[in-house]
Amino acid sequence: MVVEVKKVAKRYGKKNATQVLRDVSLQIEQETCVALLGASGVGKSTLGRIMVGLERPDEGAIFVQGERLLVAKHKRFRNKVQMVFQDPQSAFNPRLTLAESLAEPLWVERVSKRECDKRIGAMSEDVQLDQEFLDRYPEQLSGGQLQRAAIARALICRPSFVVLDEVVSSLDVIHQHHILDLLHGLKERYGLSYLFITHDFQAAKYIAERIAVLYGGKVVDQIKKKENEGWQ
Ligand code: ADP
Ligand code: ADP
Repeated sequence: MVVEVKKVAKRYGKKNATQVLRDVSLQIEQETCVALLGASGVGKSTLGRIMVGLERPDEGAIFVQGERLLVAKHKRFRNKVQMVFQDPQSAFNPRLTLAESLAEPLWVERVSKRECDKRIGAMSEDVQLDQEFLDRYPEQLSGGQLQRAAIARALICRPSFVVLDEVVSSLDVIHQHHILDLLHGLKERYGLSYLFITHDFQAAKYIAERIAVLYGGKVVDQIKKKENEGWQ
């Protein structure tokens, strides 16, 4: 099991007035995409942030490859868990070129300049970004290009699990399918696991092996795709 969510609860607000997550348990196997489907405001992003250690659950715990994920130590999990957001601009410093942004997490890891260049070259190929874009600034890229760059930035540390939070929601249908196909290919190639957060049932059915429905603070239903038989 790559990721295990065990009995997670989360409240926000004065005197913890809003109970967003009540009792969420979920497991994600290797090389599996689980779509997390639910209405706006139901707590999908909250669960996603908790699953990468950006936020602390009030109750329960997250385990990544058997190790408990702690918010205080989430930087140590950079090589295991990553998150991509709806707005790719948020992943980038406007004053850094794409190449610099991709290199940044590797410098922190003290990866050599040579290995760094090699990984950035391979990664931009993986997400089908021409090398010429590497010297550009975020504002010089289209929405689809920038989202592919954001995926590259998340994958450059070679995580095993990635939370994809509404990553195609602000793109047109053509670019949506391009990115969904790209993500699917990367999953197969590197054995990645995904939590694909969406409110779009069609997108969920297209990319996921399993769909988990979040409602009333719980995962209320899970449906699976069967080989050659479709969804049931
Ligand atoms: P979804 O991703 O399903 O749209 P969210 O996880 O973003 O839902 O939000 C779930 C609920 O939690 C919403 O009511 C939202 O207002 C509330 N919420 C989310 N983050 C915070 C926060 N940092 N502080 C207070 N309330 C929050
Ligand atoms: P090397 O040791 O030469 O980097 P690897 O077998 O580790 O070779 O990886 C081959 C290529 O696949 C590398 O260029 C790297 O960019 C890419 N790669 C490997 N693992 C991952 C991963 N988990 N996520 C993204 N890219 C990866």
